[in-house]
Amino acid sequence: MRQTHNTVVSPQKAPSAGRSWSDSAMLVITFVRSRWGYRFRTRQQLKRFQDRRWRRFARTSMPRANYYVELTHHHGSLPIISKPDVRRNFAGMNTRSVTLEHALEVARTAERNRDFSPTIGNDLTVGLSSGTSGTQGAFLVSSREQALWAGTILARVLSSDSLRRLLTPWAEPVRISFFLRANSNLYESVASRRVSFEFCDLLEPIDAHIEALNRSRPNIIVAPASVLKRLADAQGEGRLRVRPNQVVSVAEVLEPADAELMFGVWGAPVSQVYQATEGLLAVTCSQGTLHMCEERVIVEPEWLDPERTRFHPVITDLQRTTQLIVRYRLDDVLRVREGEPCPCGSVALALAGVEGRADEVVQWPSTSGGSAVTVFPDVLRRTMSLAGRHFDDWRYEQETAEQTPSQEVQSASTVIRLLNADRAAEDAVQAELTNLANTLLAQPPRLIFAPWVEPQPGAKLRRITRLQPVSGEAGASPVGEHTA
Ligand SMILES: [Zn+2]
Repeated sequence: MRQTHNTVVSPQKAPSAGRSWSDSAMLVITFVRSRWGYRFRTRQQLKRFQDRRWRRFARTSMPRANYYVELTHHHGSLPIISKPDVRRNFAGMNTRSVTLEHALEVARTAERNRDFSPTIGNDLTVGLSSGTSGTQGAFLVSSREQALWAGTILARVLSSDSLRRLLTPWAEPVRISFFLRANSNLYESVASRRVSFEFCDLLEPIDAHIEALNRSRPNIIVAPASVLKRLADAQGEGRLRVRPNQVVSVAEVLEPADAELMFGVWGAPVSQVYQATEGLLAVTCSQGTLHMCEERVIVEPEWLDPERTRFHPVITDLQRTTQLIVRYRLDDVLRVREGEPCPCGSVALALAGVEGRADEVVQWPSTSGGSAVTVFPDVLRRTMSLAGRHFDDWRYEQETAEQTPSQEVQSASTVIRLLNADRAAEDAVQAELTNLANTLLAQPPRLIFAPWVEPQPGAKLRRITRLQPVSGEAGASPVGEHTA
């Protein structure tokens, strides 16, 4: 059997991975700036700061990427790009002219050998992201960018208790257990003399990690929401006995019910880091509100509803200088936090949540025969949780005919899978979904209840999927992309 914990960077051993002295200095500077700097009193101040950074970025980074050499430097006039554009113009959109083929080759070799030390040109790390219809994408991050990322994440996520410990030379280092699908130099760059960092491979069965966690007693656990939920279950059953001061959810949508469960067993606040392969996008503040990192990312909302409550973000990352992310449109659906401004005082855009990706937005036929009714993932999740006492977990898989011209949705069949369902479960789900349909003036979906399927280790948590029937083939394949 393989070792569960592949990488333990001890306090004595400095991490290698091409992190030079200047990168370490960069980490410290970024940490201090992100923690105590960037206090904007108004949106205007923040916007002026962004403008200055944009002008510097346009002057120094854009001329080094072939795709942007000839283009205007007026931000609003630049093309909005998405994943296929990046694939097509990969070499032109990075400042080192690395081709997609080369990047993919390095990344695949690393993934196959589960050795994530290989780099391009001694300082570039390559990550993989799998896109729609099986096309794979890659992303490039330099060691300097990793230092910036690590400094920002530590500064924004560490509680004052953890910070005090980190800054006390005679205290034990802060122990962080980090669950990842793939280790990369990116994550090892967090390690230093004051932080000990343990990498837990998500492709290993979770039970193997429980024993190791009991031994290592981490102060902070960082993992995708679905893994945190399973660890919280294990803690509830007494198999896991850890007392983290902080729990950090990354890479997946954290549902409020799961966050409550975690708080219940650990009594530690659950912070959320919203990031994509494209970089750090939002982090929860001391008050638990998710704020976009607007001091480093320009966010242009592409509104999805007339009330302007939900949007796809078009992002420009002002800190990325290798692979340029300029007006890049993400598939995620973000929901704006409404009401009073956040008591933490931040003027950065506040989110009520990351609802998921575009392919988690399902559509139901309207009762009036007009265009289809959109059901956002968050609404569907709340509805399922109303029936939640009848089962432990759920999946909602809608089959839909994507190509219908007039936005007309056939009453597509929907497969519901429930874990440990009781006898009343199916009726309860049917009733709640019908209630929701009545409220939305939509026809309730035709439900087919199917057996629960245990997810593959390391697979991303997706409770809602929209399946596209493949013509002439049995079965259906999920659409959408999964970030690494
Ligand atoms: Zn806040």
